[in-house]
Amino acid sequence: MAGLHSRRDTLSLGLGLGAALTLPQGLALARAPKATGQAPYYYRFPFGEAQVTVVSDGPLPLGDPGETFLGVSKEEIRGMLSRNFLDPASVTLEQNIPVVNFGERLVLFDTGMGTSQAFGPTTGRLTKSLEEAGIRPADIDAICCSHAHIDHVGGIVGADGKPLFPNAEVWLAQADFDFWTDEGKLGTPLKAFVEHARKNLLPVRDRIKFFRDQQEFLPGVQAIAAPGHTVGHTVFMIASGGKQFCFMGDLTHHQVLLLERPLMEFAYDSDPKQSAQTRVRLLTMLAEKQLPVMSYHFPWPGFGHVAKAGDGFRYFAEPMRMLG
Ligand SMILES: [Zn+2]
Repeated sequence: MAGLHSRRDTLSLGLGLGAALTLPQGLALARAPKATGQAPYYYRFPFGEAQVTVVSDGPLPLGDPGETFLGVSKEEIRGMLSRNFLDPASVTLEQNIPVVNFGERLVLFDTGMGTSQAFGPTTGRLTKSLEEAGIRPADIDAICCSHAHIDHVGGIVGADGKPLFPNAEVWLAQADFDFWTDEGKLGTPLKAFVEHARKNLLPVRDRIKFFRDQQEFLPGVQAIAAPGHTVGHTVFMIASGGKQFCFMGDLTHHQVLLLERPLMEFAYDSDPKQSAQTRVRLLTMLAEKQLPVMSYHFPWPGFGHVAKAGDGFRYFAEPMRMLG
């Protein structure tokens, strides 16, 4: 050991740090090679009398933020990102999927991209993440979909077109089902979204149930209509043991851009103006009530609070608790 240290000291003294970092492979001085692999992509915590396991469908790279976040100059967007120590040239979203065990029912919220590679190869991880978390797809009793976009209903069927969750009923707003499975839109720019929604929703059509605005359609799960991103976009109030959090779906896609400037528009919104108004209205309610929130696209694992800040809002991530 002493010999190794003295050799390292000699090298760094003699060659300088930069040279030491460019040693050719095979001449590394550490006893262990650099590790590969990463922690399993799930995070578990108790909530009231329920247990929440957040699983990931993998990072979703959006690329140049100036192409997707609209209504504000590109310079301003880059400035907002830089001030928050984020890459100003490229935005990557997470895909945080809560699985809530209420004791009598296991409920999955949204399902990721599935087999679609529209945003590259890092998505489509849901099945693997569930396996890492020890959750069997056959044990899922219900899937609640915030809306029928490709990155939320994409993981309902597998590559063979067969349902991945054989015992789950699927809950969705009827307006979104009707809009995104409409054959008449196959000849429009929405084609890829409609194709993927049809691929995932039609095979489970007999198990799809529609919730209504404000309805507690499962014990502990209430639908709150949040239209604009899509016609039927919905957020869910999840309650257990006297506690409540809001799964916000795509109410906001970015923890800085769409919170600091909540009236900014997002390229994938069906009705960007309505989406912005809905965002401000619901974020105001959540901030005033100080309710915990979980966001599908915020940094992993996406659980925290929102508070009013200036003309917009600020997100406070809750520290992960790795014991218990
Ligand atoms: Zn989304």
